[in-house]
Amino acid sequence: MNHGFTISGGDSFEENCGAKFKVNTTKQKAHNDREEYNCPECGKTSTRRASLPFRDRNINLILPRTDGRTDRYNGEILLI
Ligand SMILES: [Zn+2]
Repeated sequence: MNHGFTISGGDSFEENCGAKFKVNTTKQKAHNDREEYNCPECGKTSTRRASLPFRDRNINLILPRTDGRTDRYNGEILLI
């Protein structure tokens, strides 16, 4: 039996900023903070309550942006 840390679920949601992507969150009952995540396409930063910081594996690109633009928020280049 593993009596270590138990992650009590989590949820996922979709974002659409031109690109569409799915974000999987981890949740614990007691401890959820606002954590930042970035759009994999444009690099836009948003926050969501989660128990652990978002990592690349939590972000799943569904559809690349279709607006034909290649600019990025704040001029930041996000390399993945
Ligand atoms: Zn985006």
